[in-house]
Amino acid sequence: MTETRLAVADDLVVSLDYTLRLEDGEVVDTSTADDRAPLDFVQGQGQIIPGLEQALYGMAVGDKKEVVVEPIDGYGEHDPEAFEMVDQNIFPAEMTLEPGMSLRMRESSGQVLVGYVVDIRPEGVLLDFNHPLAGETLYFQVKIASLRAATEEELTHGHVHGPGHEH
Ligand code: ZN
Repeated sequence: MTETRLAVADDLVVSLDYTLRLEDGEVVDTSTADDRAPLDFVQGQGQIIPGLEQALYGMAVGDKKEVVVEPIDGYGEHDPEAFEMVDQNIFPAEMTLEPGMSLRMRESSGQVLVGYVVDIRPEGVLLDFNHPLAGETLYFQVKIASLRAATEEELTHGHVHGPGHEH
């Protein structure tokens, strides 16, 4: 009996166990905590950061790897220009703004950007549009938990269906 070795390729649903550390060793995210599950995504569709996606090609179920992702292939370089002071009046009066809070802001072009509250000042609210991990080199430990072909519907929708996402 021959067995085909299924390996990570475009249009496969990858179920990935991962731990993400920063340069100083701090764990910022892990799928292996008790209340977490592996991350499911369709390979080759840009659903995860490019530096990590590229490193997974050819890995089989159970394979482990350490992947170092530079900012340019991760969450981008930190842009010192990506700060903006906005008028507090644009937020609903009942909304309590706090530093670190993320806000979805729609630009006049219609594009949605996520900003993080840096500071609330008398003259307005200072927002940072950098991703919190911008400028960081990312150190991943990954393991392929499972692999399967994506359904036509998943490819069309651009996301994985399963527990918590059925429609
Ligand atoms: Zn869907």
